[in-house]
Order: sequence, then C-alpha cells, then structure tokens
Amino acid sequence: MDINGKEIASHIKEGLKTQISEWRQKGYRAPKLAVVLVGHDSASEIYVRNKEKACTQIGIENLLIKKEADISEAELLGLIDELNEDDSVDGILVQLPLPGHIDEMKVIERISPLKDVDGFHPDNIARLFLNHEGLFPCTPKGVMTLLDEIHYGLAGKEVVVVGRSNNVGKPIAMLALHRNATVTIAHSKTQDLASVCRRADVLIVAVGQCELIGKDFVKPGAVVIDVGMNRDAKGKVHGDVHYEEVAPLASYITPVPGGVGPMTVAMLMKNTLEAYMRRNQVK
Ligand code: NDP
Repeated sequence: MDINGKEIASHIKEGLKTQISEWRQKGYRAPKLAVVLVGHDSASEIYVRNKEKACTQIGIENLLIKKEADISEAELLGLIDELNEDDSVDGILVQLPLPGHIDEMKVIERISPLKDVDGFHPDNIARLFLNHEGLFPCTPKGVMTLLDEIHYGLAGKEVVVVGRSNNVGKPIAMLALHRNATVTIAHSKTQDLASVCRRADVLIVAVGQCELIGKDFVKPGAVVIDVGMNRDAKGKVHGDVHYEEVAPLASYITPVPGGVGPMTVAMLMKNTLEAYMRRNQVK
C-alpha cells in the first residue's frame, strides 16, 4: 500500500496553520523564517520557492535573502550574525550547496543552534545523538513521521538504512535506534547489499541512484521508504527504489514523487514553529 506523503504533509501543515492563527489571535507575532539563497542554482531556486509557498500557506513570515555567487565568505558570515541577532527571526536556513569558495561547515556552525531549522549545526547533531531535545534534520524527521502515520512501532524491528550522509542516512539511523530498532547502515562499500536489505522489516533508502533497489532487495511484507530523488533527462523524478517491482512485495511503500519529499518541507515548517515556541516561550 502506498504511504501518501503528500496528503500527510498537507494535514500536518493544516495543523500548523491552525496553531499559528491561534497564536495570532492571542496577540503574538507570526513566526519568521529567513532563507538565504546564494547564486542561481536551478534546483536550489525550486526548493526555495517550495519553502516560500509553504510559509505563505500556513502563515509563517518568509524573509528571502538572495546573494550573488561571488559573495565572500566573510560577508555571508556577517549576514548570519545579523540574522542571529535579529529577534524577529526564528529560523535561519542557508540553502545548500554553496559556491566552492565558501566553507559550508563554517556557515552552518555560525547559525545559532536555536535558529538552526535544518538541524545541521553540530550542537543539534549532538542533541540528536544524545536523544535530547533539539532541532533535528527535516527529511529524517519526515521519515519517522510517516512511520508514525501508519502506526508502525520500530521497537525490536530490523531497520536497514541504505546511505550514510550526515543530513539523511545517519540521522535516520539514529532516530530509528532511539525507537529501539536494530539498525544496520549500508553504503557504497557494503558487500552483498541485496542480502543485507532483505533482512529489513523496514528498508529506508537514501542513496541518489535511480531504481537501485529492485525486488531481490526486499523481504515480502517489508515497509519500504524511498528518500531518493533522481531527475531523468526529461526532468521526471524517480526514486532509488524500483517502484513497479517492489510495490507488490512491500506492505507499505512511499511513492516518488509524493512520498518523503513533501514531508521534508512540512518538517521544516514544524521546526520553524518549534524554534519560535522555544525562543518566545509560547505554548
Ligand atoms: P549523498 O550523496 O550525500 O549520500 C549518498 C549515500 O549513498 C552515501 O552514503 C553513499 O555511500 C551511498 N551510496 C551511493 N551509492 C551506493 C550504492 N550503489 N550502494 C549503496 N550505497 C550507496 O546523498 P543524500 O543522503 O544527500 O541524498 C540521498 C538521496 O536522497 C538523493 O537522491 C537526494 O536527492 C535525496 N534526498 C531527498 C530528500 C527529500 O526531501 N525527499 C532530501 C534529501 C535528499 P558512501 O558514503 O560509501 O559514499
């Protein structure tokens, strides 16, 4: 059965919208998300537009700051300092990737952890690792929310995460571990990937290779979450999982598009609200 991420994300955003309008009625200001876009990468421009649209939909004020690709690292760090100090800004997101002359990690580390709605700051990563309260990366949070929506308890289950990026694979594995799953992280050096994947009660794939995971990788009845987004020559988006082969075997599967993707934006909105609530002590 498909897990309809688009519909779930839409319900979540409706809930956030209601929450914001209740705050507004009580006289609080709207939450505010600052998005910094450097250069003219077309994929980044699309992502930023989607975030802007979601903010407008639910009542978050969106401050889009566009800078040319030749901005110096020092100037960008200065901008982050200003946004950190601006009390009206609750969340700061610097759209990645940045041009090569800018050290991304330096920029991420400059963002106040309290405003780090992407959840990439080492302070928030440590909090995730320690299972403490913090702002956690949006896609991993979205994946866990999808599992909650199908009422899937992870305790004692075999979870295999394919992909070990800092933003997706590793945080997903950590969140699953905190829910008492037995977690395996596979990657490009894993031997016999198919047999490792076949162990999974829940198979989560975040690789970036079109339809890498076919029917031989999936245990019948497994839940399959496809994080991959791979654009073909015609601009059509495909997952890392071969949907037609795997869907008949899986108990649940996320389609691409319409699975994990919409959840990422919904979780960004949720993180912005969490940052707002914590900073302004709003309940
Ligand atoms: P990265 O390129 O940072 O990481 C890819 C991971 O996949 C690496 O750990 C790599 O292993 C592993 N890998 C690559 N090839 C293989 C292979 N043949 N077998 C097993 N493992 C392999 O990508 P991201 O984590 O950032 O993104 C992964 C995918 O998810 C992409 O398609 C991306 O577009 C998508 N994505 C989707 C989002 C959404 O909202 N739906 C959000 C973010 C990402 P190694 O470490 O050994 O190199």
